[in-house]
Amino acid sequence: MTTQETNYIAKLRNSGLRPTKQRIKICEVLFNREKTFHFSISELTKILRLQFNQKISLATVYNTVHAFQKKGYLKEISIGNDMSYFDTNTVSHHHFYDANTNELIDINSHEVEIKKTPTPPSGKKIDDIEVTFKISKKI
Ligand SMILES: [Zn+2]
Repeated sequence: MTTQETNYIAKLRNSGLRPTKQRIKICEVLFNREKTFHFSISELTKILRLQFNQKISLATVYNTVHAFQKKGYLKEISIGNDMSYFDTNTVSHHHFYDANTNELIDINSHEVEIKKTPTPPSGKKIDDIEVTFKISKKI
């Protein structure tokens, strides 16, 4: 077993998941990469089916991604419509969102300066601020 596989198994166990072959494949797609990966559940399922030529159920992908998100290995991004995106970059950062291509691009948190924030409702605190810049092709 490679160190990477050991690492995936640890991640799965930490997230309360049994390390099945399919879930290890999911880990490979998610975590074996240099650059940030933004995806929806259906996109990830499609990639897994194409790349590994296997019947992986949407439910397996859904459960695994949500367990990772709960544990902090993935971040969920809301972009203001009903599409749910996930992000392998779990540190605080912002995004460009291209509605034409459904693509998310990372922006470093120091590239955005927030000068004023609203007072949260009583008894609540702000945990994080994420800004989405919606972009489109220049005409
Ligand atoms: Zn991101």
